[in-house]
Amino acid sequence: MTTLNRCSKCSTSVGTCTCAGCKDYFCTKHFIAHRKELQVNLEHITDTQNRLLKQFNENNHYSGLQSSLFTQIDQWQSVIIQKVNQTADNIRQQVTQMLNGQREESKVKFQAVVDELRKRKEEDDFVEDDLARLKNSIDQLQQELGEVQQHPFLELHVERSEHIDWNRLIYLEYKSSDTKKKKNLEAKSETSQGFEYDAQSTSTLKSKCNNHS
Ligand SMILES: [Zn+2]
Ligand SMILES: [Zn+2]
Repeated sequence: MTTLNRCSKCSTSVGTCTCAGCKDYFCTKHFIAHRKELQVNLEHITDTQNRLLKQFNENNHYSGLQSSLFTQIDQWQSVIIQKVNQTADNIRQQVTQMLNGQREESKVKFQAVVDELRKRKEEDDFVEDDLARLKNSIDQLQQELGEVQQHPFLELHVERSEHIDWNRLIYLEYKSSDTKKKKNLEAKSETSQGFEYDAQSTSTLKSKCNNHS
């Protein structure tokens, strides 16, 4: 090196030092001042970061979203429970209606036989054929009632809860189509991570002092 570089600050002294960052030349005095300046800037950044970290630790910025999501989940849960209760009530009502209908039918048949028996007895109006027919009617009724108990004519068809894909009924998803975020969500759900201090935010400042002959 033959030409001597002058200090970028004072322009009078020889620039014996260069800053690895801005590539300027400085005399020793101004190089120290330049380093001081960078140190002050670093302090500013550190202060801002500390304030942000304090804010982060003091209040949960995610709590608003969490309570909103929890509210929606609670609503979904109560709607589902209401629907289950309503469906169970409906099917109970159907069972009652169907069985009452059947019972009413049997009762009518019984009453017909009872009425006919009483009438024929009162009026002394019966022959072998009538007795056989009435006995047959009573046997048939007895058989029908026995059948109901031994071979129920109604059965329930139930969609088993293990066959329902519950995880598709309600699930969490990112609003954006950011697949990277989605992957993060999946990874975080497996290993819950705490707050990580980002060393890169206060980037290390490299400098060197070169002596030029
Ligand atoms: Zn200087
Ligand atoms: Zn510099």
